[in-house]
Amino acid sequence: MTVATLRRPALFVLVAASAFVSFAWAQNDTLGHQDTPILPGTEWHVHDGLRPQPPVIAPAAWDGKPVPAPSDATVLFDGKSLDNWRMKGDKPGAWKIEDGAMVANRTGDIQTKQEFGDCQLHVEWASPAKVESASQGRGNSGVFLHGRYEIQVLDSYENPTYPDGQAGAVYGQHPPLANASRKPGEWQTYDIFFTAPRFEGDTLKEPAYVTVLHNGVLVQNHTPIAGGTAHMALAKYGDAKATGPFRLQDHGNPTRFRNIWVRPLASAPTP
Ligand code: MG
Repeated sequence: MTVATLRRPALFVLVAASAFVSFAWAQNDTLGHQDTPILPGTEWHVHDGLRPQPPVIAPAAWDGKPVPAPSDATVLFDGKSLDNWRMKGDKPGAWKIEDGAMVANRTGDIQTKQEFGDCQLHVEWASPAKVESASQGRGNSGVFLHGRYEIQVLDSYENPTYPDGQAGAVYGQHPPLANASRKPGEWQTYDIFFTAPRFEGDTLKEPAYVTVLHNGVLVQNHTPIAGGTAHMALAKYGDAKATGPFRLQDHGNPTRFRNIWVRPLASAPTP
């Protein structure tokens, strides 16, 4: 037996092993999940890390000053008081107020006392300036419309994660059309245009729709919402409610919020 024939099996093993490694690499979803249900109408799993990443774009320059509310808006947070907010179980708002912002402080989610139907909502938020952790662990929070449909808040500045979980996503359903994130610590804006779901009795007649501008960039365009936000599962609608509060998520990261105002919109007439 020559040295060459001795080497051949070793070479085969090497080639086979490298092919397996490449295959495994191509299938390796380190950013998300492949063991979750397929989102209806798509080829992607819920939180699929292999789903195409939205293009990264730089939003327009901004001086970072709060965007003034129009005359008919209801100011929900003016930087001074949590009077319009409450915790679970009807407890008073417990987030910290610091330098005109309310800050998630591991006391749980906070939500408005008032409920809304169709509306325009303006929210300013900032991820922690000090970068800690990565992916979903970095500046995670969220704006829940009707207390149940989450527009994800995340530090998505040079922070890869699964696309349906990055800033501006309808969490677990629709990635944003673009990643328009500013740097951690910088103020960012969400302008959210929400059409509440329509029910007939207990039956869903029309899903909710949402349009979102992130730092002035369109990231959701009249996107149908498949139901209440779920983690690693398909969303579904729960009880038939025409209105609900806004809820801000305390995901354990000290995300800041300020200058939150809403313009309730006249609901479409019921046929
Ligand atoms: Mg979140």
